[in-house]
Amino acid sequence: MGIFNKFKTMAANRRELDELGIDPFSIQVDRIISPTEGMINGRHTILAGTNNYLGLTFDPKCIQAARLALDNEGTGTTGSRMANGSYSGHRDLELELASFYQKRDGIVFSTGYLANLGMLSTLAGPDDIVLLDADCHASIYDGCRLGGAKAIRFRHNNPEDLAKRMRRLGERTENTLIVVEGLYSMLGDKALLKEIIDVKKEFGGYLMVDEAHSLGVLGEKGCGLCEELDVLDDVDFIVGTFSKSLGGAGGFCVSNHPELDLIRYSSRPYIFTASPSPATIATTRQALRALSEGTHLRKRLHENAENLHKGLSELDYTLGASPSPVIAVVFEGKLQALQFWDNLLKLGIYVNMMFPPATPNGSYLIRCSISAAHTPDQIAKICEAFAKLKPNT
Ligand code: PMP
Repeated sequence: MGIFNKFKTMAANRRELDELGIDPFSIQVDRIISPTEGMINGRHTILAGTNNYLGLTFDPKCIQAARLALDNEGTGTTGSRMANGSYSGHRDLELELASFYQKRDGIVFSTGYLANLGMLSTLAGPDDIVLLDADCHASIYDGCRLGGAKAIRFRHNNPEDLAKRMRRLGERTENTLIVVEGLYSMLGDKALLKEIIDVKKEFGGYLMVDEAHSLGVLGEKGCGLCEELDVLDDVDFIVGTFSKSLGGAGGFCVSNHPELDLIRYSSRPYIFTASPSPATIATTRQALRALSEGTHLRKRLHENAENLHKGLSELDYTLGASPSPVIAVVFEGKLQALQFWDNLLKLGIYVNMMFPPATPNGSYLIRCSISAAHTPDQIAKICEAFAKLKPNT
């Protein structure tokens, strides 16, 4: 079978899903109706697995900004900024992000994945060490691989374990980058950021926080966990994505380190890919404005999250963390989780099915992501579906 030999396990996994007639990984939304509704398999479905935390994908001002950009600047940039040059919007957005976070400068990447890949692979080379939380996103692991840094995992959200590993590194902590997320994407728990900052202060090194799931969600202005805990000045690099609360696509890093600009000239995931399209940049800039002014959206988002969390707790489901816009229901077995996911879909509720290795501790997760755009009625319908499907204990 040559090069295809390695796909044997995957082929067997796919066959298993085929035989079950359940496939959470090939779902198609035939028609998207709103941030929280779509047609799936001919059924009107409540979408509760989108990461569309503020519901901005249908925001009229964002859509108008994209239309204007399409009319004035065309459909795409057709190349990388290094080769083809930047459009003014790219740099404007970088400066707006820097000002939003009160940092010296920012860089925009074409996706959130590429932001992590581009930053980590360039900041941390073969002589450096990345100490990353075990539950960090794949893009963080991949960035370490691309740069050739030594990646050491510390126990999830465990500052003592981080300190133990830092102590062992001795003087090498000078060349160490600690990486955590603001809000973890699988279980919806927050980083123990203050304690992690204390470890950094004691042992040295640098700290990067990926606010992918906390941008727009946490903090008075919506900067994320760093703002909520008032530790923006203690964090060296903040990365994030435009693809969740901002409703677009793209990623960024902001920092006070003057060397940030030099990353551009050495980062392969920045140099060797096309820059975001004008429409993407325009919607993101508008969404960033909406996000800063969006206290009411954040309030609604957290009310919705609290209500769903309360509803599912009362039904005695095992939940991943305290209330946050990511609510994960933990299942022991794969088959049970798959059938539950499929039954939810048949009741008109779409959520994410998460399998190992993406999940912590080899767990199977039914992951709901809540939006400010969910109505109280939709949250009630999600709870009703979970009540109907409650396994007999
Ligand atoms: N970081 C984290 C923590 C994520 O969860 C994700 C996406 N799930 C990314 C980065 C990548 O972002 P994007 O999908 O915008 O490329």
